[in-house]
Amino acid sequence: KLVSREFKKENTIIDVNGVKIGDKKITIMAGPCAVERLELTVGIAHEVKSAGATVLRGGAYKPRTSPYSFQGLGREGLDYLVEAKKQTGLPVVSEILDTRDIELFLEKADIIQIGARNMQNFELLKEVGAYDKPVLLKRGLSATIKEFLLSAEYIMSRGNRNVMLCERGIRTFETQYRNTLDLAAIPTLKDLSHLPVIVDPSHATGKWDLVAPMSKAAIAAGADGLLIEVHSNPECALCDGEESIRPSKFKELMGDLRKIAAAV
Ligand code: PEP
Ligand code: MN
Repeated sequence: KLVSREFKKENTIIDVNGVKIGDKKITIMAGPCAVERLELTVGIAHEVKSAGATVLRGGAYKPRTSPYSFQGLGREGLDYLVEAKKQTGLPVVSEILDTRDIELFLEKADIIQIGARNMQNFELLKEVGAYDKPVLLKRGLSATIKEFLLSAEYIMSRGNRNVMLCERGIRTFETQYRNTLDLAAIPTLKDLSHLPVIVDPSHATGKWDLVAPMSKAAIAAGADGLLIEVHSNPECALCDGEESIRPSKFKELMGDLRKIAAAV
């Protein structure tokens, strides 16, 4: 299989506007869960950049559990990300929900995110597989490692070799936190596949105070990067404020991560 370490021995390094993902240096993608107001998005982008993040995250299309929850700004949200990129130079990652939006994402995003809920949306996987735009594929809520890798295979078999795997926690019997971060998935995926492995400690825990310890553990376990939710005013966030950390906390965490990364 194309995803396998047997097929390709060397680690895949994905170049996103000069940011090399899967390289020795860890890649930190940070930003709000959802794109909200323009000034807020641009403000957070400046803050995460100054702390050392190299990719800006932000959802314009949000896959919410309830149809009454904020669904995202859509096209306008993508435009805010483009503006934040113009001002900071940070490439952007954003989630696609619908194959009909592919042209829009090819134009406005630097990395297309496939969310956990769409890990087995095979038509969406085939669609993003038809281009060479980098893809961040998140592990499904209850997906096994095998199923996760087969979803990546769907994308790669269509021709797109720029795929990153993202462990974001899985559903277990534990209800104390939102999901259970599968730390063993990190060395396992690195062993089975040559693709970069990114960890999302925010959705994996659903609790802001668990984000720093899980980020450190993920880097110590060999992750190539992290996807972290940062918001300047988490109490007022339109989505996932409870798992978002403030820029000051993010900055402190970045300092700790640099030390751990240097040691692994
Ligand atoms: C997200 O990263 O915005 C998101 C919705 O995450 P997940 O698909 O992992 O739940
Ligand atoms: Mn979120």
